[in-house]
Amino acid sequence: MWNEFEYLVPNSWAEACNFLASNPYTAKVYAGGTDILVRCREGHLKPEYLVDIKHLPGSRAIGANSDGGISIGAATPLNEIERFLPDRLGFQALRQAVHSVGSYQIRNRASLGGNICNASPAADTVPALLILGAALSIVGAIGERSVPLCDFFLGPGKTVLKQGEIVKSIELPFLDERAVSVYIKTARTKAVDLAQVGVAMLLLPGRRISVALGAVAPKPLRVLAVEEIRPQAVWTKEDLEIVVSQVVAAASPITDLRATAEYRRHLVAVQTGRALRELLSLCSPRENGGMSSEETT
Ligand SMILES: Cc1cc2nc3c(=O)[nH]c(=O)nc-3n(C[C@H](O)[C@H](O)[C@H](O)COP(=O)(O)OP(=O)(O)OC[C@H]3O[C@@H](n4cnc5c(N)ncnc54)[C@H](O)[C@@H]3O)c2cc1C
Repeated sequence: MWNEFEYLVPNSWAEACNFLASNPYTAKVYAGGTDILVRCREGHLKPEYLVDIKHLPGSRAIGANSDGGISIGAATPLNEIERFLPDRLGFQALRQAVHSVGSYQIRNRASLGGNICNASPAADTVPALLILGAALSIVGAIGERSVPLCDFFLGPGKTVLKQGEIVKSIELPFLDERAVSVYIKTARTKAVDLAQVGVAMLLLPGRRISVALGAVAPKPLRVLAVEEIRPQAVWTKEDLEIVVSQVVAAASPITDLRATAEYRRHLVAVQTGRALRELLSLCSPRENGGMSSEETT
């Protein structure tokens, strides 16, 4: 059931932040609208004002920084991000994650900032952004701050954003050219469904790995324990089993309409093993300290 609201298009970030800060319970940020309008239509949210951030300076800017990182305006639609991302295996997880959201039409509207700020435990882009070490540039009525994405979520639908604050951009740090990454989403249908489980994995030279999970905990989860694992020379079957068991131990899934907790735990194990094998087959053993997929098969 819709309620009436006013649609506002501010001219500056300061104007938007001040308005949101002065109307703490009645004004909401509006980017692509693919989450917020659904909640308004279902009657779960009854804002008096929707503050459109798509026309603010830089909100849809996307580009490479001089330090080799990438800056993505928070209101940039997912299709634009997919087109922009460097054709390098290190960014493959983010390209796959972006591509897995909804349908082509949804991705034309849906923004990266909206996917993050909605704070769904199953948001597809978040595990990929977590393994890439993303940070958020946040603007508020009294200034700007930077927050690592891993510190942004407090629980389902809850973030560290204070009243009047808006995520302005998503910052990805420099990524080694030899990095390889993957995002594997398991869902009930091939398109237009949230993940039952999402696994993002990054493999860096020196046999360092990063794993993040979606849909298996109250908030997207970076599995810090696996970042300590360093196989001696080559990845063995035992190393792979250690990674899988650490990742499964970190997950705390629930049963809901998409899957049972037990099935989700099973999927985490299967997809973590698959992700690691896939990455090992992609990277050159010499460049990556002797890693080889043959050792793990
Ligand atoms: C049919 C359908 C299929 C979908 N499939 C998927 C899917 O497969 N995977 C998936 O992850 N999601 C999916 N979604 C959810 C949705 O499309 C994404 O979460 C999308 O990225 C949200 O972006 P948006 O710009 O539309 O956000 P909006 O709806 O505009 O905003 C979402 C929330 O974030 C807040 N917000 C937005 N931008 C900012 C900002 N910069 N700063 C502060 N707060 C902000 C808004 O106030 C609101 O609370 C689907 C939605 C639909 C309708």
